[in-house]
Amino acid sequence: MLNQYETVIGLEVHLELKTNSKIFCSSSTSFGGKPNTHVCPVCLGLPGVLPVVNKKVVEDAILVALALNCRIAEFSKFDRKNYYYPDMPKNYQISQYDLPIALNGRLEIELDEEIKKIGITRVHMEEDTGKLVHQGTITTTPFSLVDYNRAGVPLLEIVSEPDLRSPEEARIYLEKLKSIIQYTGVSDCRMEEGSLRCDANVSVRQTGKEEFGTKTEIKNMNSFRALQKALTYEVSRQIEVLEEGGRIVQETRTWDEGQGITLPLRSKEQAHDYRYFPEPDLTPMIIEREWVESVRNRLPELPDARRDRYVRDYGLPEYDAGVLTSTKEMADYFEACLNAYSSPKTVSNWIMGDLSRLLNANNLEIDKCPVSPVNLASLFKILDEGTISGKIAKVVFEEMFATGKDAGTIVKEKGLVQISDEGSLSAIVEEIIAGNPKSVSDYRNGKDKAMGFLVGQVMKATKGKANPELVNKLFKEKIKTLIT
Ligand SMILES: [Zn+2]
Repeated sequence: MLNQYETVIGLEVHLELKTNSKIFCSSSTSFGGKPNTHVCPVCLGLPGVLPVVNKKVVEDAILVALALNCRIAEFSKFDRKNYYYPDMPKNYQISQYDLPIALNGRLEIELDEEIKKIGITRVHMEEDTGKLVHQGTITTTPFSLVDYNRAGVPLLEIVSEPDLRSPEEARIYLEKLKSIIQYTGVSDCRMEEGSLRCDANVSVRQTGKEEFGTKTEIKNMNSFRALQKALTYEVSRQIEVLEEGGRIVQETRTWDEGQGITLPLRSKEQAHDYRYFPEPDLTPMIIEREWVESVRNRLPELPDARRDRYVRDYGLPEYDAGVLTSTKEMADYFEACLNAYSSPKTVSNWIMGDLSRLLNANNLEIDKCPVSPVNLASLFKILDEGTISGKIAKVVFEEMFATGKDAGTIVKEKGLVQISDEGSLSAIVEEIIAGNPKSVSDYRNGKDKAMGFLVGQVMKATKGKANPELVNKLFKEKIKTLIT
């Protein structure tokens, strides 16, 4: 490569709000209904109907904007964005153009060495479009079916500044944004179901240059992984074009997951192509400051604040606290465990270790975890009481996860109670001593490792049920009394 390049990325995120009714009518927003059943004259765009703003949508927009440290506009209005496409019954989308609900926010992301502030340009409200259904792919289908259930579902669009400098930073930003929004509770943020959608503006420029390169817009990235892969591909494609003396064409490109490449979709529209004008059927909004403050009071503790509290109050390492607070559900689960068992480090280790491993293996979210916080705490308690060994605890936990039963029941049913009875362990210890003279003499000659082996033999003989400390003690006593 002749030149060094810097990557410049900005993200536009569309978020479906989970209000009960649509943004401008009372039709249901619920997902998965029969096609064209959640519709009415307003969201079908029939002549003569008038939209009415759903107050809850404005309130949710303010809540999200406050969580992203935005300034809430005092005066805001809706505009018509005109374009023709069959998924849009009115041939225009009611959106916000020059006076969005909120501006100038920021969000902090954690990189390896630093905390970086990413600017939020704006947050605005708009209506979703319907959905076109094709047989096979869009290019080969003989027809399109249209479902207007989604037409008029409230969306927030959150636009970032072009502050992201790598595909990885873009992914981290989106993960953080998702986490914050989930904490506010206004959206499910499911990328696979489309309640969180992300488009990216990407360009490259020679390192040291101030001026931005020509950008392309990438669409159709349906997961965090796809986002990072698509951007990585697009950045190297642009560099290759420039290195070969070509120039970047401003266009919209689509990510083709199967081929692992981006493909041109259409030349990029300019704002004037949409002939924006103020929506004449809706009056502009004056956003009272008292209202903004009352919404601010509803803001929950957000992930950064919660992470800092875990470090401060529970003495957890920064990393652990970050993982535990990455979703509200996981943080809530952690705190529910603490209510029943007050050792933060023990609880955190289990959640981040065995629990997360099993959740991932079973493709489950923590709010669907078969082991309730109270049950997990019960496992810690019988472990502390010495009823079971640490090794057996892992076995019991797997069984709890598989069956949803509590720890005590499983220990009883499976006969897993720890053997802490000196009499029965003595006999086994003596047997192992008699059968392993080499290890015994190694131990006596100062090789401490040999003790590990001997204890291991007893654990094996008792299927992990022997109390390891007691076994250790018995070995030491008995070896000491051996006649040399
Ligand atoms: Zn409707």
